[in-house]
Amino acid sequence: MIPVCLQLFCVFFYGSVMGSFIGVAYTRLPLLEQRNVTNVIRTLSYPPSACPVCKHHIRWYENIPVFSYVFLRGKCSDCKSVIPFDHVLVELGAGVLGVVVWYVAISL
Ligand SMILES: [Zn+2]
Repeated sequence: MIPVCLQLFCVFFYGSVMGSFIGVAYTRLPLLEQRNVTNVIRTLSYPPSACPVCKHHIRWYENIPVFSYVFLRGKCSDCKSVIPFDHVLVELGAGVLGVVVWYVAISL
């Protein structure tokens, strides 16, 4: 049996990953119309995430939802520009929503 705290962590993390994806889709999907791009998957996955200020490519360990924001103290690792809090807010919200849905589901 998996401990409840580990289950909560996994559900929160999975939810925050979904929140991160929603953030990427929200940011990039309008570009489809501007560029008249037809390959949606390619647009969502390429180009890789980068700092909007210095164009520093974000490494995998700098792109872990919520945890990287805390680890980097809300700043780009290269130019130290502030990472907008709304990104982590969507990740946090989706993580909490995942935990709530999970809790309701196991309570039934
Ligand atoms: Zn930067």
